[in-house]
Amino acid sequence: MPPFARTPLAGLTVHAVTAFADNYLWLLQAQQRAIAIDPGDADAVHDALQALGLTLDAIFITHHHRDHIGGLQALAARWRCPVFGPEDSRIEGVDRPCRDGDRIARDDFPEFEVWQVPGHTRTHLAYRLDDAIFVGDTLFGGGCGRIFEGDAAQLHASLQRIAALPGTTLVFCSHEYTRANLAFAAVVEPGNAAVAERVRQLDPQRPSVPFALAGELDSNVFLRCAEPPVRAAAEAHFGASFADAGAVFAAVRRWKDTHV
Ligand SMILES: [Zn+2]
Repeated sequence: MPPFARTPLAGLTVHAVTAFADNYLWLLQAQQRAIAIDPGDADAVHDALQALGLTLDAIFITHHHRDHIGGLQALAARWRCPVFGPEDSRIEGVDRPCRDGDRIARDDFPEFEVWQVPGHTRTHLAYRLDDAIFVGDTLFGGGCGRIFEGDAAQLHASLQRIAALPGTTLVFCSHEYTRANLAFAAVVEPGNAAVAERVRQLDPQRPSVPFALAGELDSNVFLRCAEPPVRAAAEAHFGASFADAGAVFAAVRRWKDTHV
């Protein structure tokens, strides 16, 4: 995978900095300034800033997991930049705690809107622009985050909120999990041609992230829990009947947790 695969957005360039086994640390560039989202590895972000000739303007954090915050303190100290993130005592160094609906305006950058999207963790945030959303570990290509805190109803509601954005919205998530997620989707919905086509189009040499939301609605089983084939598959797997899409979602999430 080439370093710093880039995606143009209105007024911005987004660089994918790879780290650890399968993380994407996002670097948003406007002019020669950058915002780092979830800088889990300070060295990886530092090297990218150097290579691109950028100064760090701010850090955004989605949630407290180590692979998302590991580089926060070193980078904030070096660049003396503000750190936006959840109100959560487990994250040291957030000096601009954010709540749902907050707006973040930085020079040269379009305005971001903060969303609280609990489920993967209790205090998880997403950062939204008009044409893109940075979702951390909430929604993945073809899948969604595990429920570490909170409950299935919370994660389902968070995903439904994201899914209601325009289909052209580009989704930037934090891990390259798309292939494994689609393999599970094909087990749940073996007749779904959109899943098969998406698998066929995956290129191991290129990131599958970002992806447009419209394609998720067709192929991401976690956004399709109101669809009869998904409900039928979940009911067959568990030998139970589920009252609504929320119950189907909880069941499919449990199924994925134990799927090998
Ligand atoms: Zn996480």
